[in-house]
Order: sequence, then C-alpha cells, then structure tokens
Amino acid sequence: MTEIYPYTEVNLHTHFFMCGHATGEASEYVDQALGTRLKVLGFSDHCPLPDHSYSGSRMDIARLGQYVDYVNEQKERRARGLKILLGAECDYRPDLAGFYRDLGFDYLICSVHYANSHRYISYYRNSPDMLHEYTDNYIAALQSGLFILGCHPDLFGLFYLDWDAEARSCAKAIIEASQDSGVALEINGYGLRKPLLSTPGGLRHQYPLNPFWELAAELGGVKTVVNSDAHRPEDIIAKVDEGYEMASRLGLKVPSLVIDNSVISLK
Ligand SMILES: [Zn+2]
Ligand SMILES: [Zn+2]
Repeated sequence: MTEIYPYTEVNLHTHFFMCGHATGEASEYVDQALGTRLKVLGFSDHCPLPDHSYSGSRMDIARLGQYVDYVNEQKERRARGLKILLGAECDYRPDLAGFYRDLGFDYLICSVHYANSHRYISYYRNSPDMLHEYTDNYIAALQSGLFILGCHPDLFGLFYLDWDAEARSCAKAIIEASQDSGVALEINGYGLRKPLLSTPGGLRHQYPLNPFWELAAELGGVKTVVNSDAHRPEDIIAKVDEGYEMASRLGLKVPSLVIDNSVISLK
C-alpha cells in the first residue's frame, strides 16, 4: 500500500526531553499535533554516538533503546489519524555511516552542528575555514544516501555573518548537492523563532537566510520542506506557515511524503 501526504501535513523534525535540551514527553507532542493539520509526525532527537561525541547536546547512547521505546509507545497509541514515525537527527561523519544505517529507524535526517575534528560551529565567528568545513561536511551528508532531508542547511548563518562571495559559493555548493542527490532541504522553524542577529548587513534571522533560499529558487530543482524543529510541545508547528510563505513567495517546490511498504521518500 502506498500512502502519500503533502509535506504541509508532515513534520519530521521534532525533539522531546530525551535530548536533554528540549522539554516535554513524546505524548505531549502527539497531543499538540492532534490539534493541527498534521497527519504525520516524526520524532528525530539528536542521535547519540557510540564514542559519546557531541554529548553536550544529546542523550547518552545507553538511553537510545529507551528513546525508541518512547516513540514506539506513541505509535502503538494509534492517536486518531496521526501517523508516528521513528527518526533521528544525525551529525554526519563518514566513519558513522554504518552505525546510522544499522539503527534501522523509519528515516534519518542530517545536520552539521560540529564540523571536522569535533569543532562546535558556533564558536567560529566569521571564520571562512569553518564555513568551508561546514559546507564540506554538509555535502558529504547529502551524498551519503542515508538521509531523507537536510536540516537547516543555512545554519552557518549563526556564525558567518556576512553574505559575501564566500557564503554565496558555499550555499551554491550545498544547493547543487541537494539537486544532484535529490535530498530535500529544510526551511527551519526554530530559526524563525530565535532572536534576531545583528550583522553588517543589518538585523536578520540567525537562520534561515533569505539569500540562501533566493539562490535555491534561482538554481531550481530543490525539494524544499518546512519543519518546526520543536523543542517544546507548544511549538509543534510554530512558524512553519511563515516558512511556507517564504517557499511559496520564492516559487520553491514542496514535495510529498511517500510511504511505500515502509520505505519513506520525498517526491
Ligand atoms: Zn536540539
Ligand atoms: Zn533539530
């Protein structure tokens, strides 16, 4: 059986208390989702790693089984009309590909919070080296074949403040990797909810970056989704409509979620 949902009825980027920096039980996110247009809710907490990398922003690997149990409990609850999926948000590194694949989750999404050598990107204000590391890591993730979508590809906006030739060429490389791989990119609602950032070009969102998405529209062919990246139950679809207004204003193509014999894709 094939199920098809317009992505506007889907949110695949949702956290809950297990990651250590979100609040609320999985059940509270489901309760909130029931009051919205959502038909598919995917949980995607920050994936813990066997070597305990990035432990400041995620559960310990020893609790992964418990995370899976919490999400599966929500599946079993069969909340009316709401399909629940088990996912994870993964900081990609090539040496972790096998580990991620073996998780056997319904789907995986990727992001880059830590570039090569475990460096936390936020600490490298205006560093072109970090911008390039970020970009290389992001492209490798898109090309890995593990992920259904790339989260906040323009997250580099929180440390690289200028929209200059460097930023534009990195954005272009990420967009082209999305075109080539067919992996969708995300306009992130959490970015739209965060405080604005003062930059040489004026006050703007840390992310999403308008020029990034204008470039994606200009280059064409990027499947674009909007997720809330909720870290509180009440944010289950917060600012998502603003993201869709942006996508529609720019003429970005929003795909549908297709579930075909448990294989999940965006088309
Ligand atoms: Zn988080
Ligand atoms: Zn997230």
